[in-house]
Amino acid sequence: MTRCKIKSHNERYYPADTLGLEAEEMRRLGHKVVDLVVDRLVHRHVEDAVLTGSSADLMAALGAPLPDGPMDPDESLALLAEVALQHQQRGDHPRYFARVPGPSSFAAILGEWLGTGFNTIAASWAGGSGPATLELIVIEWLRQLMGFPEGSEGILVSGGSHASLTAFSVARSVCGKGVVYLTDQTHSSLVRNLKEMGWSEQHIRVLESDENYKMSMERLTRAIGEDRAAGRRLSMVIGTAGTTNAGTVDPLHEIADMCHREDLWFHIDGAYGGPAAITQKGRQYLSGIERADSLVLDPHKWLFQPYDVGCVLVRRPGALERCFNMNPEYLKDVEAGAGEVDFRNRSLELTRRSRAVKLWMSLRTYGVGRFRAAIDHGIKLAEFAETHLRSRPATWEVVTPAQIGVVCFSLKNTNPRQHAARAKALSETGYACVSSTSLKGRSVLRLCTINPLTTEDDIVGTIDRLEKACTEKSSRATAPRRSE
Ligand code: PLP
Repeated sequence: MTRCKIKSHNERYYPADTLGLEAEEMRRLGHKVVDLVVDRLVHRHVEDAVLTGSSADLMAALGAPLPDGPMDPDESLALLAEVALQHQQRGDHPRYFARVPGPSSFAAILGEWLGTGFNTIAASWAGGSGPATLELIVIEWLRQLMGFPEGSEGILVSGGSHASLTAFSVARSVCGKGVVYLTDQTHSSLVRNLKEMGWSEQHIRVLESDENYKMSMERLTRAIGEDRAAGRRLSMVIGTAGTTNAGTVDPLHEIADMCHREDLWFHIDGAYGGPAAITQKGRQYLSGIERADSLVLDPHKWLFQPYDVGCVLVRRPGALERCFNMNPEYLKDVEAGAGEVDFRNRSLELTRRSRAVKLWMSLRTYGVGRFRAAIDHGIKLAEFAETHLRSRPATWEVVTPAQIGVVCFSLKNTNPRQHAARAKALSETGYACVSSTSLKGRSVLRLCTINPLTTEDDIVGTIDRLEKACTEKSSRATAPRRSE
């Protein structure tokens, strides 16, 4: 195959930029952007883990009358790099432990840049056969990594929420809009999806999770029995492979067996925890993930991709297309042939950029082995955090043990309101950012340790500061030491 065809159809000169920047200026500015990004990555550990500005200050610095004529791009880049983009959570900071960090990798960033620079489109085969091929390859790689059966299909979307929405559309097209079972630990975006899709509250059974925050098979069996007895139509059970709160995994094999017996769709939300299945240790938690009818992963979480990219895998070949296919007359001349895929027919997005470029680029650059080692490091760090907390029994109680990168804990003999207060105070020092959350009404602190750059010293430093209710603005001038 020809790698790159440059044909000369005419000798006319076309400027490089549609709106008037000269090629040399484009190069200069582009190189400057690369330097800004790499400089930031080199120094990220001495940044604040999160920085929030006031709306008045940010508007004063960034706002301006709508510019009629050109403004200086160097000045705009400086404002972006020094003000706008400084004020956010640094999800790739080694001590960003809140919610779910976003420790993206540089090869993935390169893929994202190149894809944007080439204005990739992955809607139809005729309009983007290269990007569509990348997406097919990446989906196939993810299928293999998750142990899904051959022939399963999928698509990349903006994130876990959209990926579950896509899966629910397929489930509804196969099983109808019957009763859905989930737990009080299911991510709130999934319940929102169901409601937005027209499921009534009466058809969404939120089962109380067991004492380990997992789906209780006893409660599920009882609920299904009651709904069957009442003659209701049933459609789906939603399991979570790594809850956001505590990293717990529902009993996947048992739910899969139940769904098989009862002829129900089994959806697994692995947006957070799914990638851990590529490691030996993670697989012990996630065995059964391969039995879902639909599985969601969020590569912008634990597969080290910049925002945004989520993925849904569907076990039944053709089910996505049967659900989303649309071929209006004005798209007839860009219809896919045999062996080709029009990704516009696999979700609600028509015009869509290629999110596969970054995944393809990073999986090739690092190889799965490095992903595996990086994920293992995150799993071990949460275990280290648990051990450290247990070594201070006078101050800390471990509420949920380390499970695929998450540990929840609470202060002993202290007003639970202290959790949120201490998390906030620590964020304000800039040293680290942790979350407080609530488990069945009990307030806890929580660390999510999935950044491969995080060291054991970072964990100890963070827990120590939470313990001392540290409010001093940190002088984070020390380079992180790797714990291995
Ligand atoms: N499911 C789980 C378990 C999550 O942790 C999250 C986000 O943190 C989501 C779904 C939603 O994913 P997204 O924010 O990518 O839409």
